Amino acid sequence: MKDKKILIIEDEEDIIELLKYNLVKSGFNVTYVMSGEEALNAVAKENPDLILLDLMLPGMDGLEVCKIIKKDSENLQIPVIMLTARGEEEDIIKGLEAGADDYVTKPFSPKILLARIKTVLRRDGKRYYNPDSTIQIDRLTINPEKHEVAIDESPVKLSYSEFKALHLLASNRGWVFTRYQIIDAIKSDEHCVTDRTVDVLLVGLRKKLMEFSSYIETVRGVGYRFKDSQ
Ligand code: CA
Repeated sequence: MKDKKILIIEDEEDIIELLKYNLVKSGFNVTYVMSGEEALNAVAKENPDLILLDLMLPGMDGLEVCKIIKKDSENLQIPVIMLTARGEEEDIIKGLEAGADDYVTKPFSPKILLARIKTVLRRDGKRYYNPDSTIQIDRLTINPEKHEVAIDESPVKLSYSEFKALHLLASNRGWVFTRYQIIDAIKSDEHCVTDRTVDVLLVGLRKKLMEFSSYIETVRGVGYRFKDSQ
């Protein structure tokens, strides 16, 4: 974790100072820029290990910056944590769908932010890690090849969509998915899903998971995530 390079994209000096102080104290290398336009140059030049991106920037806004960064295959693996004002759920959703890896709402506690940074860095930007391998979480087994789920040895009967949603969430623990991202993972030629059905689907899935239902967390106003292992 030490010596990792973090690029801060933020236009408020007080927040830059607060971030720098806490990140440097934790052993990170920190650089910052104060606009989206500068950010794009800085990403190319500095090749950071992680980006902290304020969404409300003068000129090019954070969402646009995120989209451009993530469009470039060379940058795709650089994790982006968005900084947003509380209550900007629409923006959080748009940001996650633009490829951001996580978000923290302002005002934030440095301790929580550092925990998020460490989690995201540990994941190494890899999503869908080995999508075909069996996932074992506690006594819950998810076998993507056979489309089977079991608690201990007892099979849990899931529909196609429930299985897809569970597999998406459980193979990306700690990651928040928006309803649209879940729909995208489920839909196929035969299966059509709308965003209201996602909520209904998740209610049904939780019921079937019994004591593991609490592993699927609702992120209010944003979407769902599978409880992180930490
Ligand atoms: Ca701002």
